[in-house]
Amino acid sequence: MEVGIPICRCGLEAKVVVSWTDDNPGRRFYGYKNYGRESHCRFFAWYDAPLTPRARVVIVGLLRKVKKMERAKKIERICWLCLLIFSMAIVWVMK
Ligand SMILES: [Zn+2]
Repeated sequence: MEVGIPICRCGLEAKVVVSWTDDNPGRRFYGYKNYGRESHCRFFAWYDAPLTPRARVVIVGLLRKVKKMERAKKIERICWLCLLIFSMAIVWVMK
């Protein structure tokens, strides 16, 4: 057992998890080790100090930009695929 890792009410070492909420983007916390796999004891404790309001605004803004760019990239890929299929259909009809 490592020193400093909190123990939950079940007697298990807590697991470090990253929060991606708008209030705490990228902030790490200790959570129940088997969260999502079995019923849990709802153990929770922050690992990192709170973000400053400015850091929160900057990180949330960057995350939104990344999501927007990923969506645009996905749409572009679909457009290219449609264009390819359309071109192949034209070639097939012209034969
Ligand atoms: Zn527990």
